[in-house]
Amino acid sequence: MDGTGLAARLRQEIKEDVAELGQVGLATVLVGEDPASEIYIRLKHKASEEAGIEALDHRLPATTPEDELAELVEALNEDDSVDAILVQTPLPEHIDEARIMRAIDPIKDVDGLHPFSAGQLYLGRQTLVPATPLGVMHLLEEYGIPIAGQRAVVVGRSALVGKPLALLLLQANATVTICHSRTDDLARHTLEAEILVAAVGSPGLVIAAMVKQGSTVIDVGITRTDAGVRGDVEADVADVAAYLTPVPGGVGPMTITALLGNAVRAARYRRGKLAFPRI
Ligand code: NAP
Repeated sequence: MDGTGLAARLRQEIKEDVAELGQVGLATVLVGEDPASEIYIRLKHKASEEAGIEALDHRLPATTPEDELAELVEALNEDDSVDAILVQTPLPEHIDEARIMRAIDPIKDVDGLHPFSAGQLYLGRQTLVPATPLGVMHLLEEYGIPIAGQRAVVVGRSALVGKPLALLLLQANATVTICHSRTDDLARHTLEAEILVAAVGSPGLVIAAMVKQGSTVIDVGITRTDAGVRGDVEADVADVAAYLTPVPGGVGPMTITALLGNAVRAARYRRGKLAFPRI
């Protein structure tokens, strides 16, 4: 499954949406100097600029007190030129990540991590949904992969990827199993999956012997090794699966595209072009 190609096409559509809206502002906040986070922020800014989204870069030292970060988020909530706010995680240990996510106005919650956004997804009335699961759903749709009535197994249960993806698949009427580090006999579950998603961060976790013939396998994992970036899925899975996402070039570009789509969605909410359910 070609995430890069689909992402390029969708980004063209997003560019047209941005032009129609006139201006879309995405504020990113990076606390500290985590190298992986710096790469992600750089990629998000580059993609935003290419789509015509105005990306505002806020950088704070790793020692920033929690209150100061919360104040910045509140100022961005009030800033009319900001449609979407992204606070890059992980945050330094002394900062309560949940408090910072709660500080973001849900209408600008482009990462979908505010409890309001998560609750809307849980209820099946989604507003802003985390970008990686959305990107995976776009890929499944693009390739015409049947979901309703199918057995989907999601390995990983993070609030960023595994859980929201399981909820989206459930909403699309799959029968969903969520596996995690305490799952006994992982292969027993994965072998049943018509759609198998690996979102763990453990290279080579999923091998061909764990995959059902003719299934669809989505590799979300990203691990940087000396030999380059690796996913969770072994290459030999391609001999068994009908569809497989490569790493890189699969879910990664779709994640950034879905983030841009979320920024446009937030801008539409703020301009009254889409109804936002207010508390
Ligand atoms: P995370 O918060 O570390 O969650 C990993 C999940 O994997 C946890 O639920 C954990 O279970 C589970 N797990 C760990 N070892 C396992 C095992 N041996 N068998 C089954 N499950 C196991 O990570 P995340 O944020 O969800 O990200 C997952 C991966 O996706 C990472 O490699 C990350 O870099 C990548 N990622 C990629 C993109 C992209 O755009 N492609 C975006 C986001 C993340 P417990 O809950 O029991 O600990």
